[in-house]
Amino acid sequence: MMDKLKDFMLVLDENDADIVVVNSCTVTNGADTKVRSYLNSLKKLPKNPRVVFTGCGAWTKGKSLFESKKIDALFGHSKKEEINTLLKNKQTFFELGNLEHIDKTIVSNFVGKSRAFIKVQEGCDFRCNYCIIPYVRGNARSYDEKNILAQISILAQKGFSEFILTGTNIGSYGKKQNTSLAKLLKKISLISGVKRIRMGSIEPIQIDDEFKELIKEPFMARHLHIALQHTSKEMLKIMNRRNKVLDDLALFEFLSENDYALGSDFIVGHPKESEELWTEAMKNLKKFPLSHIHAFTYSKRDGTPSATMDSQVRGDIAKKRYNELRDIINKKNYDFRKEHNTKLEVLVEQKKNDLFVGLDQYFNRIEIKSDKDILGKWINIDKIIPRREHNFCDLNNLASLSSHLVLK
Ligand code: SF4
Repeated sequence: MMDKLKDFMLVLDENDADIVVVNSCTVTNGADTKVRSYLNSLKKLPKNPRVVFTGCGAWTKGKSLFESKKIDALFGHSKKEEINTLLKNKQTFFELGNLEHIDKTIVSNFVGKSRAFIKVQEGCDFRCNYCIIPYVRGNARSYDEKNILAQISILAQKGFSEFILTGTNIGSYGKKQNTSLAKLLKKISLISGVKRIRMGSIEPIQIDDEFKELIKEPFMARHLHIALQHTSKEMLKIMNRRNKVLDDLALFEFLSENDYALGSDFIVGHPKESEELWTEAMKNLKKFPLSHIHAFTYSKRDGTPSATMDSQVRGDIAKKRYNELRDIINKKNYDFRKEHNTKLEVLVEQKKNDLFVGLDQYFNRIEIKSDKDILGKWINIDKIIPRREHNFCDLNNLASLSSHLVLK
């Protein structure tokens, strides 16, 4: 949207704005509540800005917010490309659009970032019981390959060298066009300047043989975030997931043997997650070569089948289980980093409290002490100090580590 705004000046503080565009999230009831309280806060601003509402919340709460005059205007995802024209309309308007649209915007810069995020598709054909996303984003559709490659070429010419492919369900890329994510990855890797490609969350069943053939390629980051969501066979059925624990485990073992760090999403405390199912899940989880986790405690989303299921899990129990899961993965991550402490390729992304910070090929954070300005640079590190929280390297004191470093 920022790329399309040609006739407006962007400000960073709502207090200075005449118009505030709210790009809303609606993934849980809690997200809706946060959006509502943010909208209320806008009405108290001294300039009384015009409030224009968009994002996923447009499809769930948009109509009631518009009718109750909490917002002045609304446009849906498919209208985002028209934002410049829409904002010139000073009347109230309600333009929800559709859920089939394919965005053709070429985002030509990421201000203040070393890595570029490339959206390759929108929507999802799965129907997990807890998830509202397909109803607010629509079914899976892929962005035009030519556009994706053009966008990456432009960004590579500007100096970006790491690209992260994103979308609602990126593993479905190309399925309806007789192509695939693997084919797209190969084409991206041929663009001059592309050094490393990462992927957003991918579904286990979408890692097919064609994809597996690519895993040794040098352009592939040695980390995949694979959405398991749970490791109890029964819970996966209750959630209406398509993955199966034993197949998932075989896949994770295969990737781990090929030197991959593996992460996952995990929902804790979904309705019907009994003590027995939780115990089974943790027993299975310990077998998984996982080094990263993005865990959530289940949060109800009205309009989904899970929201009306009985046997909801008490908040304190969910919290306890969440902590148990987090402790298991924190230990696995520390063990992984102790084993993988050489030949790290790090793209330095920021400077924080006098330390440089970057991510290695395994998606582990490393803090680096250096008198040289290494911001935005790739560095190869042959030895680090794995600490419980994250890795550390002192470039000013390499002799003591008998390390070797190449600045690129
Ligand atoms: S695959 Fe992901 S986006 Fe699709 S329904 Fe399941 S959780 Fe939602």
